[in-house]
Amino acid sequence: MGQVIIVKCKCGNVLFKYYKDKKGKLIKCYLHEIRKDYTNGITTLPQEATPTCPKCSRTLGTITLVHGKPALKVKQSTISMRT
Ligand SMILES: [Zn+2]
Repeated sequence: MGQVIIVKCKCGNVLFKYYKDKKGKLIKCYLHEIRKDYTNGITTLPQEATPTCPKCSRTLGTITLVHGKPALKVKQSTISMRT
């Protein structure tokens, strides 16, 4: 069973809330499962875009298709999550 988690940047800035359907490490975030966006539009980005943290400008990852759906492939060194 999934749950909504809070996804943060390394700098501490909250990026978005995300519905995660499995336990374990955050590898990718499907854009359609982002429940509340604090990044000014991450869910509307095209493929190959590289969104950044609005506060510190670190790269958050790359938008790519995962199982045919747009997702943020998470940059592990930047992103952390809290349940
Ligand atoms: Zn940041």
